[in-house]
Formats: sequence, structure tokens, C-alpha cells
Amino acid sequence: MLIVMKPEASAADIENVIRSVEALGYSGHTLEGSERTVIGVTGNKGSIDPAHFENLSGVADTVRVTQPYRLATSDPGDKYAVPVGNSFIGGGHFAMIAGPCALEDREQVFRTAKTVAESGAKFFRGGAFKPRTSPYAFQGLGIDGLKMLADVREEFDLNIITEALDEHGIDAVVEYGDCVQIGARNMQNFSLLRYAGQCGKPVLLKRGLSATLDELLLAAEYILSEGNPNVIFCERGIRTFASHARNTLDLSIVPAVQRMSHLPIIVDPSHGTGKNYMVPALSRAAVAVGADGLIIEVHPCPEDAMCDGAQALRPEQFLILSTEIERIRNTVSSPAAESADASR
Ligand code: PEP
Ligand code: MN
Repeated sequence: MLIVMKPEASAADIENVIRSVEALGYSGHTLEGSERTVIGVTGNKGSIDPAHFENLSGVADTVRVTQPYRLATSDPGDKYAVPVGNSFIGGGHFAMIAGPCALEDREQVFRTAKTVAESGAKFFRGGAFKPRTSPYAFQGLGIDGLKMLADVREEFDLNIITEALDEHGIDAVVEYGDCVQIGARNMQNFSLLRYAGQCGKPVLLKRGLSATLDELLLAAEYILSEGNPNVIFCERGIRTFASHARNTLDLSIVPAVQRMSHLPIIVDPSHGTGKNYMVPALSRAAVAVGADGLIIEVHPCPEDAMCDGAQALRPEQFLILSTEIERIRNTVSSPAAESADASR
């Protein structure tokens, strides 16, 4: 940590800060600038709480040098491929994940899965436990839905990603699925994150509705610190003042995460926009920006969907989009594009 002193700080103020640093068992080193003094703190094993110093007389600011998220940002240069079922996400493996918002009945699930498999995607999504704003809205098929997902895996060789809302849900998803989705509303449910860290399956961690990058990384830290290295981040839009879309898809978090973390980050343009007509455009943009994958809602008949119909793609739209995504991926991962990236 660096403790930046005010220009008018006295020698006694500086002495007092150094004494406080030493009282915690660390060392303080003064760096005299032309206008102000900065005190560098060394000897700490983890990050230090700035509250120890920021109210001391003469202190202008504190700057953290040691990041609090050590596991999530251990080696950003060495990208990690998260194993999910019989495939991978990240580390050069692009993942297309698609399926309905909610599992509704066998016909809807299997019709959608057929399209997803036909597109060449390797991952199927679909919620059996739905986090609904209203307790009176459809809450999902529960275990019956998970059994359908297990059948989809058998029939189409698709890997299953599905949300759990609580500890019982995680146990159930572990039994029937390949990857546990922690939804935006649960991103800071810390006991659930710890449980997910012990579950033995990869975790798709969605960004909270108003979460910062720091908060997202720290949420992952809860899972990683329980011994589960398999976390995939997901940008799904955040709340802003904009009302033309359901959420504001923050694509800038993709390079921001990639700069700091070895873990993959995928994008959800369905919840990120809430609008069918925006999903293809934002999917293409997410791939161009370098996302490690996409998660897209598809429904055989969006007008009849029990949940999120306005943002669902029709099967034929999804198939067209899949082809476009493939073309963009081939362009952005060309050697020319890679050398342009490296020179930035
Ligand atoms: C979902 O993926 O169906 C979902 C509810 O997503 P989020 O948690 O991002 O709202
Ligand atoms: Mn949805």
C-alpha cells in the first residue's frame, strides 16, 4: 500500500503514520517528492485495510498495491480452459451456450435442444429454478426440469448449464447438470458462493445487477478460495438510467477482466438487452471484443414463452447468428488481428 500525504503534512504527521504502520507489524518507507511525501508499506502478506490510515492527520489518500483478489487474478497471461462436461470454456475454447430461459415442457426443451445441437454449439442452457421478481410468476419445473436436461445431454451430447438458487439447488444441479449457474441476483450471496466452491462442478458466475469489476472478482474469490478453480465470468448487463434496453450491456468489462484474470468471461446479450432485435448485434459485438463465449436465449415460439419471451431468438434466427459468429471469430482470431492486439 502507498500512503500519500497532503502537501501541508508536518514531519510529526509523517512520523505518526509510520508509527501506525509499524504497530501493525509492517515497515514504512518514506519517498520524498517535490510537493508531498508518500509512505510505502511493505512486509504485509495480504492487502491492508486503508481504514487504518485514511483518517490520520496529514493523510491525503491511500493506494492499494496488493489486490484483494489473489486467486482470480493469479496469472492473467496464462489463460485457463475451464472443463465443462466433455468440453472447455476459455483458454482459446470459444463457447456458444444456448437454450430457453426457463424449461417449460418436454417438447419445448427438445425442440430447442435440437436447434442448438444443429448449430454446432456444445452447451445447452435452461432454467429449472427461476429467480423471478414476483413470487406469483412461474418459478420453474424444478427437479422434473433437471431430468429433462439430463435427457438432453444423452440425446444431443450437449453439456448442461443451469441455475441454482440455493444450496439444495446446487446439489440437484450437480446431480443432473455439468455446470452450476449463479445468477446475477445471487452474485453476492456469499454463503451460496462458498457452497458452490465446494460442489465439484464448474461455476458460471453472472455479474450482479449493479456490481463493479472489483465486486465480481471478489465474488469469484469466494468460490476459488474453497478449492474450486473452475469459474467462468458472465457479463449480463447492468442497471443504468438508459430505458431503451432492459439492461446496459457493459462490453468494456470483457477486456478489463481479461487484463486481470486467467479465467474466461462470456457475454449474455439476451439479459443484457432484453430485446430480440438487439441480441444478434450485441452478440457480434461481444465476439469482436474478445469474449470467450456467448449465452443466448432461444425459444421455439417466443410469443408463448413463460419467461423472457421478448429477448428470445427464434430457432432460425439463432442458426443464422451462429454462422455469423463463426465468421467473426475467424476474423478476430486471425494472425493479423492478434498482432494488432499485441501492439496496443
Ligand atoms: C438467466 O440466465 O435465465 C437469468 C435469470 O439470468 P440473470 O441472473 O443474469 O438475470
Ligand atoms: Mn431469462
